Amino acid sequence: MSRSEDLFAQAQLTIPGGVNSPVRAFNGVGGSPIFIERADGAYMYDADGQRYIDYVGSWGPMILGHNNAAIREATHAAVERGLSFGTPTASEITMAEKIKALVPSIEKVRMVNSGTEATMTAIRLARGYTGRDKILKFEGCYHGHADALLVKAGSGALTLGVPNSPGIPEDFAKHTLTVTFNDLESVRKVFAEVGDEIATIIVEPVAGNMNCIPPAPGFLEGLRDICDEYGSVLIFDEVMSGFRVARGGAQEYYQVTPDLTTLGKVIGGGMPVGAFGGKREIMDYIAPVGPVYQAGTLSGNPVAMAAGLAALNQLDDEKLYPQLNAKVTRLLDGMQQLADEAGIPFTTNRAGASMFGFFFTDADEVTTYQQATQCNMEHFRKFYHSMLRQGVYLAPSAFEAGFMSAAHSDADIEATLAAAKTAFAELKA
Ligand code: PMP
Repeated sequence: MSRSEDLFAQAQLTIPGGVNSPVRAFNGVGGSPIFIERADGAYMYDADGQRYIDYVGSWGPMILGHNNAAIREATHAAVERGLSFGTPTASEITMAEKIKALVPSIEKVRMVNSGTEATMTAIRLARGYTGRDKILKFEGCYHGHADALLVKAGSGALTLGVPNSPGIPEDFAKHTLTVTFNDLESVRKVFAEVGDEIATIIVEPVAGNMNCIPPAPGFLEGLRDICDEYGSVLIFDEVMSGFRVARGGAQEYYQVTPDLTTLGKVIGGGMPVGAFGGKREIMDYIAPVGPVYQAGTLSGNPVAMAAGLAALNQLDDEKLYPQLNAKVTRLLDGMQQLADEAGIPFTTNRAGASMFGFFFTDADEVTTYQQATQCNMEHFRKFYHSMLRQGVYLAPSAFEAGFMSAAHSDADIEATLAAAKTAFAELKA
C-alpha cells in the first residue's frame, strides 16, 4: 500500500469520502487519490515522494505556479502584522483599486471568501435590484454550491451524477431556469415567455466545469442584448476564467461587458478569496449603502488580501499571457498530433491564454454540454491513470478544465507529451 492509499483509508474514517471537496476523491476516474505534501513551481510532490507536473493548479488559482516567492513573502509579512482584525484595512482599498484597473466593468467590488459566496450574493443582489425572483443559468455550468445554483450544475455535481442535490427544497430551485449553453434560441424562448420575471442570466463566459467549452461566436453578445431588452442583470461568473483567459478575463477577450462579475481563485493567490463587483448603481444596492444584505467575519482578510495582491501585481508582466498562450498551443497541438498518430479519436478546446480541455471523441469540435458528456469515458480514465503513473497530474474528471502556469517550462511540456505518447499507445493496445 502506498502512503497515499494509507492516508485515504484513514481519511475516510473521519471525513466524508475522505475529502473536503467531492471531486478530489477520484470518483471521476476511479482509484485512490494522491495526497500532496508540498508543491513548487509546476510540480507537486505526494506523500510517497513522487513528483507530478501539475495542470490543475489548485483548480485554477496557481497561474504563477506553486509557492510563488512574491506571494509567499507578502503573505509572511502580513502574518507578522496579525491574522485578522474585523475592521477595514488599507489593503482592501488597494485590492479594490487593482481589480477595478484589471477589469474595467467593475466600478465597485466587495471581497468574500469563496467563489460560492460571490455567485450566491451576486444572484441575491440581482434579485434585489430588479425586484424579480427568477434566474437563468446553463446546463453544465457550475457556480458554486448555493441552493439556487446547484441545479443542473457541472464540475463534481456532474462527475457524481447528482446535478440536482437532495436537501434543496423544490420551492428554492423552482426559480432557477436552465437552458442550453451556446444555444441562444433556448434563451430567447424562455425570455419570450417569462422575460420580465427574470432577474439575471448567470453564465460562465467560458464554460470550465463541463470540461472546457468556449462561447460560440455571438453567444455572449446575444446574452448581453437579451438582458438589455428585458432589463435583466447579466452576470459573468469569472471565478475560473478571470485573469486566466486574458488579464481582464473572458469579458476582455470576447469584448462583452457584463453588469456584474464574480471572481475567485487567481484573485486570492491560493488563499480562500472571492469577490463580486460591477456597475456602481447595482453595487450600491448592497448593505450598508443599500437594502440587500451580505456580510463576512473574515471577508477582506489582511493575509488573504496580501496574497491576492501579490498575485495580481505579477499579472502586469507583458510577457505572461503571450507565454501562457504559446505553452497551451504547444501542449494541445502536440497531444492532437500524438492522438492522430495513434489513431485515437481525440480533440481539444482552449479559451484565451491558459484554460484548455481535451476530449476523447470522434467529433471535430466540442461546443455543447451534450457532446462533452458523450465522450469516451473509458478512454479518459485509462489515459488519466497512465499520465498519473508517469508523473503528470491532470484534473481527475472529464468535466474539468486544465490550467497552464507561468512556471511550466518547455521541458515540462515535452515531458508531458512524452507521457501522452505512451498513454495513447496503451489505449490503442
Ligand atoms: N464559479 C465557477 C465558475 C467555478 O469554477 C467555481 C469553482 N470551481 C465556483 C464558482 C465556486 O467557487 P468556490 O469553489 O471557491 O466556492
